[in-house]
Amino acid sequence: MRSRRIAVLALTGVLALSACSPDEPPPMHPAPGASGGGDPYFPDDGNGGYDALDYHVDVGYDPASGRLDGDTTVTAKATQDLSSFNLDLRGLDVASVDVDGQPARFTREKQHELVVTPSGPLRAGSTFKTRVRYSGVPAKTPHEGGPENGWAKTEDGGAYLVGEPHSASFWYPVNETPRDKATFSVTAHVPEGWTVLSNGREQGNTTKDGKTTTTWTEPNPIASYLTTIAIDKFTVKRSALPDGTPIVSAYAPGAEAREATGDRLPEVIAFLESKFGPYPQSAAGGIYLDEDIHFSLETQTRPTYAKWAEILTVVHENAHQWFGDSVSLNSWSDICLNECFASYAQWLWGEREGQNLDDRYRAAIEITRGSTDFWAQKLVDMGQEHLFQGVYDKGILAMHALRRELGEPAFATLLHDWVTQHRGANGTWAEFEKLVSRVAGRDLSGFLADWFKGTKLPADRNLYPGALRP
Ligand SMILES: [Zn+2]
Repeated sequence: MRSRRIAVLALTGVLALSACSPDEPPPMHPAPGASGGGDPYFPDDGNGGYDALDYHVDVGYDPASGRLDGDTTVTAKATQDLSSFNLDLRGLDVASVDVDGQPARFTREKQHELVVTPSGPLRAGSTFKTRVRYSGVPAKTPHEGGPENGWAKTEDGGAYLVGEPHSASFWYPVNETPRDKATFSVTAHVPEGWTVLSNGREQGNTTKDGKTTTTWTEPNPIASYLTTIAIDKFTVKRSALPDGTPIVSAYAPGAEAREATGDRLPEVIAFLESKFGPYPQSAAGGIYLDEDIHFSLETQTRPTYAKWAEILTVVHENAHQWFGDSVSLNSWSDICLNECFASYAQWLWGEREGQNLDDRYRAAIEITRGSTDFWAQKLVDMGQEHLFQGVYDKGILAMHALRRELGEPAFATLLHDWVTQHRGANGTWAEFEKLVSRVAGRDLSGFLADWFKGTKLPADRNLYPGALRP
């Protein structure tokens, strides 16, 4: 009996040993990460195989020559065993790539793929740091995405960057998809006399040997197209929201007269908080350019404004700090989750100023009723070539109709719950539809389909819901 017992114990001991031996990790099956992030409209954007956690971008910029010297470290977690992986970078010459301090091989492919092969495979679940050193004159005009995405120079020699969906890859290597949000910081070196603005909180600046170094940190996850940098001889104004959140607003030469608009930011944010809940960002402010660009952009914590921007633009871009920035889309086909909400915020601001939104809505319906083109615009799943169409006008009417269909308490709950449930993360249209029906306490998929996915004037019962019913 005894010997047999010992034999059994010995056997189980051997089995246990082989199951959890610390010096024999499970075998790896390394494969290249995908070269696209999976967005149906922009399949090549972003990459697969890892989750970017943090970017630290160190750049020197010389306004006289337009040259940028970059040294970016991307901290990421492998989501598969990786033999190689991609970052997105447009133009610029790459001098070296290191992974965890070891030199890595790299190639450039297609328009923006930087393919990195580390000295050894990376295990799924491991965190790794990729350091890329690069330089050159950043590109202004991309091959895709419109002429105003990319690095742009101002007449007085400054530079700025805004672009949706592409902009980050013009100045640092990035997983360029809003599906992969990460924390972000910038340390920038410019000649003395120039000022650098970016996202988040200012960490002070120092000047030595004719160079000024400034660091900005954004502790909340940020989608890459919402990162920015602006270099100019700015007039900078600093203040704070009532809770202490720092406000930094910068006015480019020629834009100083816009300070009166910029100074209203606390009033705008307080109003938006009354509708959407607490301001979700680490900092606030604005970058007021003197540039005649066609759009302003909700760059996180600190929107970038074209010269024509006025108070309603400030309302719109700051509404995005909840809708688009804190809660980011997962697919570009869901752009209404950003733009329908931010555009409706402009109507909410009008209501605050005494406008009757039901009258405004009825008048807009009468004006557009006969326009098949207007009603043909889909607000969701519109197709890549129709991205950004309809969401700024038909989208406002859809939001007002939804508000009347739900009634005031449920509409307020909808806005609050959406930004609370997805804060600092992503949300999809399908999730939004589910939330609408939940707060309504009934299935509203027919109403939502008619308004947001329909291609003609909604049925009368959906066009005039609730208090809008004549
Ligand atoms: Zn917008």
